[in-house]
Amino acid sequence: TEASLRHAQKMEAVGQLAGGIAHDFNNVLQAVSGGIGLIRRRAGDRAAVERLAGMVEEAARRGASVTRRLLAFSRREELRPAALDAAELLGGLREVLSATLGPRIRVEVDAEPGLPSVLADRGQLETVLVNLATNARDAMPDGGTLTLSARMQQGESEGGPDCLKEAGPYVHLVIADTGQGMSADTLARASEPFFTTKSQGQGTGLGLAMAQSFAKGSGGALAIASEPGRGTTVSLWLPVTDREPSHHPSPPLANWMPPT
Ligand code: ADP
Repeated sequence: TEASLRHAQKMEAVGQLAGGIAHDFNNVLQAVSGGIGLIRRRAGDRAAVERLAGMVEEAARRGASVTRRLLAFSRREELRPAALDAAELLGGLREVLSATLGPRIRVEVDAEPGLPSVLADRGQLETVLVNLATNARDAMPDGGTLTLSARMQQGESEGGPDCLKEAGPYVHLVIADTGQGMSADTLARASEPFFTTKSQGQGTGLGLAMAQSFAKGSGGALAIASEPGRGTTVSLWLPVTDREPSHHPSPPLANWMPPT
């Protein structure tokens, strides 16, 4: 049933999340217990104790930041899917993104005319797209082009990825940048929760993990292609619905929090 499928997807996301946290937390605990062991051995050396205590304190701060991120993650809202017009949504995003990503990032939108509605949670889709656009901006420190496009896709028959289990149809959204791209190692780990190559405080490592779980939870899929020096392309497939797009009373990006 749909409910048990949702449950299974949630459990998978939780499992992945737990794996990421366990890893981060283990590092923190190792630093704390290692530091305490060293303090014991150097108990007579005031300067060393001072330095080691600072190290333990720093590790504990890192641990606190891991739990803060976890809290933010667990406070995520349930998906409330509704029929929506992806082309219209991308058009609204274009304006917001051109204004917020800075003058060196060109934002282009390319939507196939006459696209059917997709079934997705509007607020969360906007958040995911803004996160992807923020990643694209971070990958283009000297400027570049961010392209948001939307096409019809019939499912596997049209060369969709393995992750598309159902025949579709889907709307295929593409978020492409002309940035620095990812190494094969980074690409392999990019959607792990808490995986980030950004310096402390710059990245949470949750953007792609959340995009991935949003795609799965919406009955769609997500795939990333990237080449160092050429750029990154994130594909998001969302299921088509024959319902009319529902009127949304809130202005576009009502739930949007500016990227940090
Ligand atoms: P964060 O952006 O907080 O680091 P994400 O989960 O969104 O977390 O991304 C994980 C990592 O994947 C990033 O740190 C970066 O190394 C890489 N990445 C994501 N998007 C892009 C992109 N558009 N171009 C290059 N690298 C990217």
